[in-house]
Amino acid sequence: MSGLTDLIYGGSNAVAGLTEGAVNDAIATYGEDAPIAFPDTAYFFPTIYAATGVKVTKLGDLLACVGVLKSLITNKEDLGDALNAGLATAVGAEILEGLKFIGGATPYENEGGIGFVPDKIIRSLGVPLVTGDIPGVAVVIGTADDPATLAAVVKDYQSKGILTFLVGGVVDQVPAAGVKVGLDFRVVPLGHDVTAVTHVVTVAIRAALIFGNIQPGALPDLLAYTKERVPAFVNAFGALDAVTVSAGAGAIALGFPVITDQDLGDLQIAGALESVTDLDLTAAKSLELRNIKVKTKSLPIPLGCASAFEGEIIRKADTYAEFSSDKNPVFELVVMRDPSEITDHKIIIDGPEMAGEGMLEMALATYVEVSGTKMQSDFEPVIERKIHYWFNFLEGIMHTGQRNLIRIRISNEARNMGFELKHFAEVLYAMIMDDFSEVVDKCQITLITDPEKARALMENEALPRYTERDSRIDNMTDESVDKYYTCILCQSFAPAHCCVVTPERLGLCGAVSWLDAKATKELTPLGACQPIDKIGLLDERLGIYTEVNKKVDEASHGNVHQVTLYSIMEDPMTSCGCFECICGVMPEANGVVVVNREYVGMTPTGMTFGELASMTGGGVQTPGFMGHGRHFIGSQKFLYAEGGPERIVWMPKELKDDVAVRLNKTVQKLTGIENFTDMICDETIATDSEAVLAFLEQVGHPALALDPIM
Ligand code: SF4
Ligand code: ZN
Repeated sequence: MSGLTDLIYGGSNAVAGLTEGAVNDAIATYGEDAPIAFPDTAYFFPTIYAATGVKVTKLGDLLACVGVLKSLITNKEDLGDALNAGLATAVGAEILEGLKFIGGATPYENEGGIGFVPDKIIRSLGVPLVTGDIPGVAVVIGTADDPATLAAVVKDYQSKGILTFLVGGVVDQVPAAGVKVGLDFRVVPLGHDVTAVTHVVTVAIRAALIFGNIQPGALPDLLAYTKERVPAFVNAFGALDAVTVSAGAGAIALGFPVITDQDLGDLQIAGALESVTDLDLTAAKSLELRNIKVKTKSLPIPLGCASAFEGEIIRKADTYAEFSSDKNPVFELVVMRDPSEITDHKIIIDGPEMAGEGMLEMALATYVEVSGTKMQSDFEPVIERKIHYWFNFLEGIMHTGQRNLIRIRISNEARNMGFELKHFAEVLYAMIMDDFSEVVDKCQITLITDPEKARALMENEALPRYTERDSRIDNMTDESVDKYYTCILCQSFAPAHCCVVTPERLGLCGAVSWLDAKATKELTPLGACQPIDKIGLLDERLGIYTEVNKKVDEASHGNVHQVTLYSIMEDPMTSCGCFECICGVMPEANGVVVVNREYVGMTPTGMTFGELASMTGGGVQTPGFMGHGRHFIGSQKFLYAEGGPERIVWMPKELKDDVAVRLNKTVQKLTGIENFTDMICDETIATDSEAVLAFLEQVGHPALALDPIM
């Protein structure tokens, strides 16, 4: 064992020395008061903040951190001590990386890596991680002797949907070997220096702060969280130097096993540090050590099909065929049928196949008929919306939109691999029979490319059905149903969190509507969504039900005893961390600001989205702050207890435009005010509090006349 601890201490001491020198140099140049921060985070130097509670904001703050770091390196033979020295290396790496950003520098601009991962990306990873859509996180570090085998390992992860971070020489080797990289492909180059590993370490650490409600300074809780809830592992390629080994010790301390391609002989630690010299076995061993199970489907198609391809953009120049509602009748419809009307796995292509040279522009009706004893017409749109994801999972194919507002592009690459239209049908069939096996017994798929026939079906069947569904959903209110649903999907990251999903209030991630929750209950009876009988109304204005409280108490394991459905001030619903929007009170305006995750600028509360978001999360109730879905904004139940959506005084312009039609309609209905969104301030008008107030007074914003919000 002593060989290993010697290596770890050698690396930790080297990093400590480098860190101390770099901090002293930076102070000599810029002074102790020079501000220092990573970009787009509310968590300071996240490792230091989470482990010690210290908020690093200026260079001088780092002096004490260097002291703590050095105290972690005892140079004692004990393995636990050596792992602590690994944590010291993580802290040192964070400081060395942080120093690169001094004075607002953009060190990663031309690096070939992204460097620091902003908070909002971590928040956006919440849902795919809990659904298993991203089943794990791989950290691939070093420089491989054989780039082709390295690429095969990374491609394997990509095909399984695993999110892979690259650090070191692999940053260049992986794309050079033909693997598509970028966040959209779930292969994320961080940087060339070993210290860039800090940028994935802080992802795990911020996950604990954002979703886990881990208190800054509670190091044992932090380590337990990362070990139990962040399904990460490390693959180290190439010769190991002392610094890499001590960084690996840091990873092991966080609970992430390290698999190296070097033969470590008896230096191995079972389950934590293992050698796999045959790279064909690296991925399997890594998944096994982290107990990551990947559902793979083998489909009769010539393309890769994996969630990792979801974000792929196909440019016009690379397009072989385009199906666009702007130019041709293109739509998607799922309908429920009587079993006698359809034949299982029947695939009909009605009209011309794709043929000849691109770029083809064609019509496409994707018409899916399903039957099943437990099928309900409510599930039609739930299945239909998934078509977007399934088509996007295909390598070389892009899908945007839904219903009759769709654009699909098939790339030349996909065509060259042998893609034909019937493969769309095969994917749909396989996915529906798998994901919806509880409710769908038979499924028949018709793809119509004949423009006249497609148009006729759209006009005669699809459009009337969309309209009928919309009016059904519009008429569906919290009063019109007798059940709400819990959703606890996010508990794998936010163990105390529970969403209450009602027809008018969707889950805060924006991905779970009341119908989705209802379908989830049918599909997985003992799963994340359970019904709440709407009984025991205690307060209509706040939305308090004894039964809701009881179910939330159970679902949150006794952490939350009372929630209101409609208030931000009194026992508001908890947030996990992956919310689409954050709503926060702006007391001086007697209203609230609502900010979406995509907005990076400042808000009139003096906080960015990230800073507002950090006020709540981890399944705790924080009066005055509430995470929610975009769609909730236009609901008449939004802030119902505080006077309704007319409390909104500020939103980013993009969000305001996105929700305008529905929000204006709702406010018009509630108050008679026309075009309410014209009264809501945005960043193009003002972001500082005084100017926002002046604007609100000028337009006579209704919030100014409401009862005091706090
Ligand atoms: Fe998570 Fe709530 Fe969305 Fe369910 S509804 S996935 S618990 S945010
Ligand atoms: Zn969540």
